[in-house]
Amino acid sequence: MGCRRGELPVLGAVLALALLVGPRVLAQRADIELVPALSGGDGPGPVTYSGYQVLRVQVTGTDTAELLRSYENNPGCTAGTAVQPVQPFIIALHFWSESAVQEGPVDVLVAPDVGRRLKEELTRSGASYTVNIEDVQEAIKRENPSDLLQPRLQVRQSLQQGHPLTWRKYHRLADHHQYLDFVALRYGDLCETFSIGTSTEGRDIKGVKCGRGKREIWIDGGIHAREWISPAVVSYLIREFSERSPTSNDILSNFTLYIIPVLNPDGYEYSHTHDRMWRKTRSKNADSTCIGVDANRNFDISWGKSGTSQEPCAVTYGGPHPFSEPETRAIRDFVLAHKDKLEMFITLHSYSELLFVPYAFTIQKPDDYDEVRAVAERGVAALRAASGREFSIPRTTPYNQLSGVSDDWAKAVAGVRFTYTFELRDKGAHGFLLPAEEIEPSGREIAAAVKAMIRALPAPTRQSGDAAEHRETAAPAAGKRAAGRRFY
Ligand SMILES: [Zn+2]
Repeated sequence: MGCRRGELPVLGAVLALALLVGPRVLAQRADIELVPALSGGDGPGPVTYSGYQVLRVQVTGTDTAELLRSYENNPGCTAGTAVQPVQPFIIALHFWSESAVQEGPVDVLVAPDVGRRLKEELTRSGASYTVNIEDVQEAIKRENPSDLLQPRLQVRQSLQQGHPLTWRKYHRLADHHQYLDFVALRYGDLCETFSIGTSTEGRDIKGVKCGRGKREIWIDGGIHAREWISPAVVSYLIREFSERSPTSNDILSNFTLYIIPVLNPDGYEYSHTHDRMWRKTRSKNADSTCIGVDANRNFDISWGKSGTSQEPCAVTYGGPHPFSEPETRAIRDFVLAHKDKLEMFITLHSYSELLFVPYAFTIQKPDDYDEVRAVAERGVAALRAASGREFSIPRTTPYNQLSGVSDDWAKAVAGVRFTYTFELRDKGAHGFLLPAEEIEPSGREIAAAVKAMIRALPAPTRQSGDAAEHRETAAPAAGKRAAGRRFY
């Protein structure tokens, strides 16, 4: 069931839902005037966010959380109902925070009229909020400097060196891929390009491997399209391990690093050309005009449960089944093919300045949690020393569990022991619209953290051979059974 065309006439559907859920909730939805801005489909684009705001709401109980959720996605079209939206694809409210918590701050993107109503309701109910971003379209304009200004000079200087990346602006996919080719050409004794497959729209999912060691490490970015700081920082890491390799000789002689800056190339391009807030892949969904799947809810680990949606129009739609996306299948196949050598799996997201350790899908800790966390603590300590920023290592609670995420799958099913998710800058002042001048400082602090974490990895033991055998038998979707699986 879901938000599908033609199942019921709009008015009848809204009235039917009103009878089901009561007049209070519906009254605030059916008459909302939405600015036709947010598009979940193949609208003409580019989408404009004029007048949209990002609010930080202090959630103090289930009432506030439910109020926010009642606005989510689409008025008159909520997951689990067969009601057609008032206007197809028009979204009232998006959560920017990864999940709606019961306590604490939650960031939400709201359409202009929805924002006014939501603020009134929050005030009436005694909940507090602040406006993080006054006008999202203005923030989009400010985030990435125009090519007419300073960055144009930077691009010219970089091109003279052989590639277009500047780390002073957010670049398109082609620039990222050109940089990978440059690194392979210029530092061919250390690095070479590789590809794990192609996206729905046929784009290459391309990376660079650097190093000479037998032990292997995976680092990725850009699985969520709108988190632009992630590919930017991953390309910064590639520069660190190639152009600046003398600072990491110890790492590069013991390890081979597989680094992919943009795991979701279709979504990333779409976020540049059509909708800055695009998060998902760009695959077509059967029986829905809404496009795309949240690739980081599409892995076969406790799939479809917490922190995800069954609704194709939702931003956290986990897909029709696990590994429905060519992008996630490509990651799965690569990781499984390398599972005996991969010791660490790091994936970069934004925002919040956090470093997650497994698991996200359950509040149960893996048996080796203390060791895995100790490596993370070395990372945040190095990060703090590099920039003074304080990244915290949160615990999974019943309220922030996530299903189907890549690092959980890499650990529980593929058996990669040290798996981590970074949430990069910032803490919400800009959110996904982090100004480009923060790319370099963000890259520096994450490079310090990642290097410290690699150096903190325990030396391999003979037991790792046994682990490979165990991992062979790890059934996909083993979920909780796999959660306790040990490396040794
Ligand atoms: Zn993300």
